[in-house]
Amino acid sequence: MSVVALGESLGLLVAGRIGRLELVPTMDLGFGGAESNVAIGLARLGVPVTWMSRLGDDALGRLIERQLRAEGVSAATTLDPTAPTALMLKERPAAGSSAVSYYRAGSAGSRLAPEHLDVARIREARILHITGITAALGAGPRAALDAAIDAAKDSGTIVSFDVNHRSRLWSHATAAFAYREIAARADVVFAGDDEAELLTGEREPAAQAAAIIELGPTQAIVKLGAEGAYALADGQAVEQLAFPVHAVDTVGAGDAFVAGYLAELLAGASLTERLRTAAACGAIACTAPGDWEAAADRAAIERLLGA
Ligand code: ADP
Repeated sequence: MSVVALGESLGLLVAGRIGRLELVPTMDLGFGGAESNVAIGLARLGVPVTWMSRLGDDALGRLIERQLRAEGVSAATTLDPTAPTALMLKERPAAGSSAVSYYRAGSAGSRLAPEHLDVARIREARILHITGITAALGAGPRAALDAAIDAAKDSGTIVSFDVNHRSRLWSHATAAFAYREIAARADVVFAGDDEAELLTGEREPAAQAAAIIELGPTQAIVKLGAEGAYALADGQAVEQLAFPVHAVDTVGAGDAFVAGYLAELLAGASLTERLRTAAACGAIACTAPGDWEAAADRAAIERLLGA
């Protein structure tokens, strides 16, 4: 197995308006979550990938497992008989606007603990991908994250960390401290520019990337949205412009970007090639609504790069 993505996934209900009983034009049930989005992005690029987490023994948990398997992702999940799968509600009162509410306190994902990990899979993998969201879910998930890093470090598995700061989950000061601890043990660190500032105190991408490298990793990638990305890896700095696309929904762009980068890292590609594929995946993910639904396959990347 090439990649293990560890972390929570949530059921997703998208409805026109939530709160009053009304007729709504659509009401879609799906799922999303940073690590499962990365897992699907990798599977679409042909990379063998396992998503590892804890789910409720309920309909949403089964939906998430079924859909991930349908996307070609192996699921190494344990079921919690006494806690529900987390849920996010996306309310779309009018075209172009949306508000998201999360119901995750006491969820199965927030009860993830070291004993729920399939440590053998992490040891066998070439990359372990983790995010700051897992650390923010509580002491159990944080301990699981640390145990997963220990297993990866023991066996030479590359540790890939995307900060993925969720300000609703914890304060800036707590978050910054935890992210620095995790980044110091990672090999590859991804951060949005605001997250990189939180992590390093620096404002410019070049200074942010250099400060991340000083924490310990060998590769630092700062994601800059429609501006592209900046990376510093093994002493080489590369700037990557974003590919111009008609962006309709940028949710999931960062996860698609990470999937593209890691797929190329596994293939032994240069930093320039890794960033080019990553930016193509990020751009393609913006071209249709959904968290992972628009994730690129190889043909979509070739169409964009060949155009
Ligand atoms: P995150 O969601 O993690 O903050 P970004 O928003 O920076 O990540 O997006 C990740 C990458 O996706 C960017 O580095 C860029 O390459 C690509 N991307 C994001 N938004 C756009 C856009 N509007 N047009 C083209 N590419 C984009």
